[in-house]
Amino acid sequence: MGKQRIAIVGRANVGKCTLFNSMVRKQSAVIEDYPGITRDRIYGTASWEERHFWVIDTGGFLHEPNEEIYKEVKSQVIAAVEEADIVIMLMDGESGVLPLDIELIDNLRKYTKKIFYVVNKIDGINKENKLFVDFYSLGVDLLPVSAKNGYGYEELMEEIISIVPSNIDEISELPKIAIVGRPNVGKSTLTNALLSKDRMIVSSVAGTTRDAVDSICTYYKKEYVLVDTAGIRRKGKMAKTVERYSFLRTLRNIEDCDVALIVLDASEGVVDLDQKIAGFVHEARKGAIILLNKWDLLDKNAKTLEDMEAELYNKFWFMKHVPVLSISALSKKRVTKLFDLVDKVISENTKRITTPQLNEFLREVIAKKEPPLYRNRRVKIYYITQVKTTPPGFLIFTNMKEGIKEQYIKFLERQLREKYGFEGVPVEFYVRQRK
Ligand code: GDP
Repeated sequence: MGKQRIAIVGRANVGKCTLFNSMVRKQSAVIEDYPGITRDRIYGTASWEERHFWVIDTGGFLHEPNEEIYKEVKSQVIAAVEEADIVIMLMDGESGVLPLDIELIDNLRKYTKKIFYVVNKIDGINKENKLFVDFYSLGVDLLPVSAKNGYGYEELMEEIISIVPSNIDEISELPKIAIVGRPNVGKSTLTNALLSKDRMIVSSVAGTTRDAVDSICTYYKKEYVLVDTAGIRRKGKMAKTVERYSFLRTLRNIEDCDVALIVLDASEGVVDLDQKIAGFVHEARKGAIILLNKWDLLDKNAKTLEDMEAELYNKFWFMKHVPVLSISALSKKRVTKLFDLVDKVISENTKRITTPQLNEFLREVIAKKEPPLYRNRRVKIYYITQVKTTPPGFLIFTNMKEGIKEQYIKFLERQLREKYGFEGVPVEFYVRQRK
């Protein structure tokens, strides 16, 4: 079972965002707010006493309320409530009950979900009398809080976890995908394409340790985390935008992922910067998939992909094991195919080959080609065993460590991949000497 989802709903300016941020333990806004621009629902993970749950924030807009924005807000609220297990209906203790509160509460009564009616901006016991004056006429149980100074927060969390089950899968177990590439190759377009397919649930996860917003997308009921989507996702939507590409950020995202999608612009071919980024993925020992984007722009014939792959593997010689997929992020052609590849790469990354299998393999390999003599002595490999995964690592025992040269290791790697695949993931060999 997945985490329970808690939606925070309420009018604008009642403090939803503040409450959300304190629940996900993040003090700054998780996504930039631009006046007059609505934003999607924002998701964070929160925990209290070892119970973990999703928190969904529904707003932070309505700077200039108009019919259009109002409709958008309402549909976001309804969508959030429908997918939530628990709802926090947040009200404002300073402004009292307004007609929109009553309308929202009437809407919520239709659902059988657990609803907490929380009155914000009650920042001490002396303010609690406001509840009696204003809110008790609503005829619901009320919880006073101050999202800002923390008053009543513990009580609220205790109430929540009393109904949140404790056996929950961690977000950290979801496959993490980083979309990397130089500017203008189509990263934001791809991100938006992945997040806007009807069958995907769109959400964002506030990174708790750094200033990043990850998104979750669901493909055929499987969830994936898209790492650090805040910048790249917005970009496509905004007319004027800051270039969010930065090397440091790219490096961090690579570190954080299980699989890096290296996006190239097929219409421009491979340039130095692409190579550099691929190099970082390789050095970080991460799973990888190469995406040839803007495939729609090419004059294609039967050999186009083949030719392009040849050029690619020539320049990415260290990534010959990495699968290539041609896509068009703009027209969404073949983009969902990458989920199958992501699954494949992750399973390759965690694959284990048994020691008897490996030693059978070793006999075959040595029969083909022995390590060359070293100082006129025969170099023997006694034994091979897989000692790790993610990425897969293999330990070989030899009579002479110096005798096992880089070139022979490369040969071993090619043979290993021929037999066992390990598509999209680096493999490592360690050599140990034994008498
Ligand atoms: P980013 O900097 O990597 O995030 O790149 P963007 O997603 O902003 O895309 C840069 C430009 O390429 C935009 O004008 C996109 O519309 C365009 N673009 C992205 N993907 C495709 C594609 O598959 N085909 C075509 N023809 N254009 C694309």
